[in-house]
Amino acid sequence: MNKVDIAPLSDWGLRTERPILISGPCSAETEEQVLLTARGLKEYTTAQIFRAGVWKPRTRPNTFEGIGVEALKWLKRVKEETGLLTTTEVANAQHTYEALKYGVDILWIGARTTVNPFTMQEIANALEGVDIPVMVKNPINPDVELWCGAFERLSKAGINRLAAIHRGFSSYGETMYRNAPNWQIAIEMKRRQPDLPVICDPSHIAGRADLLKDISQRAMDLNYQGLMIESHPNPKKAWSDAKQQITPKQVGELVSSLTLRRMDPGNNGFLHQLEELRSEIDRLDNELLDVLNNRMKVVERIGQCKKENNVTILQSGRWDKVVAQATAAAQSKGLSEEFTMKIFSAIHQESINKQTRIMNE
Ligand code: PEP
Ligand code: MN
Repeated sequence: MNKVDIAPLSDWGLRTERPILISGPCSAETEEQVLLTARGLKEYTTAQIFRAGVWKPRTRPNTFEGIGVEALKWLKRVKEETGLLTTTEVANAQHTYEALKYGVDILWIGARTTVNPFTMQEIANALEGVDIPVMVKNPINPDVELWCGAFERLSKAGINRLAAIHRGFSSYGETMYRNAPNWQIAIEMKRRQPDLPVICDPSHIAGRADLLKDISQRAMDLNYQGLMIESHPNPKKAWSDAKQQITPKQVGELVSSLTLRRMDPGNNGFLHQLEELRSEIDRLDNELLDVLNNRMKVVERIGQCKKENNVTILQSGRWDKVVAQATAAAQSKGLSEEFTMKIFSAIHQESINKQTRIMNE
């Protein structure tokens, strides 16, 4: 990913202690519902940013698709009355112009928009020369490149107050989560752009209220900067995403129940112990690489042998046997079958690649 210039969260006019809390309803439904939620958040939580969907990307037609421009006036009132910064989802250039016109403080790009380079470019063009923070949700499919692309387009338009929102990824069939978290994708995003603030949206990952706490804790343990949690004065009656919303009071309780572990281990005995364990890990990683290297040398000799005798590389009976032996041995060592399979598949693929090269030399 190209280098993206990213301003710190303090440039957003926020207190930066973790977790930075964004909350509010899935959809703005009525002026009263919006204001009630905002007042509740002000009373019970540390929220600094009020979210509400004004244009709603609904999977099926004939469902509530948002109030539209009228609701932007309600967001304005939220800001005037509570001082909370406001944010809404923009999914095309028209939304972007309207949100800017009504003074929305922060924009967010939804998962169904990040996925579409045409729309991302259209929004980036609409933001050319505008100085506003933009949060980008991960695309609905597990593709880190599309997510990066969205940041690059915004960055090229001159936006540097950027944040990522991890809201999980679509998958087929019934699963525990509405959207699979695939934590490794958000971790990869952070590896590529270490300055990029990452916010977790446990509401859209979970799809149900009872899982919010565990996902939020996980995000804090992974050192995410913030949380975006959907809230509603009467969640059961919400016009969209009813199952995953909680009241502002419950948001307050959830956030104050989180354990915040220190990022900086401090200068004490723990640090020393951590260093020792890390050098042990480094030593074992080196050993692993040596073992893999030795294994590949044997693979090369087998490749030579197969070439001289003109037999195929893939001998499937042999591979089945290797897998069976490995998973049995791994199980007795307390390693999971899934993990063992992943490692051995990668090793096997590399062995085939090596032998293919030898055969065709
Ligand atoms: C939302 O935040 O209400 C929303 C529609 O989110 P997503 O783009 O993550 O589906
Ligand atoms: Mn929602």
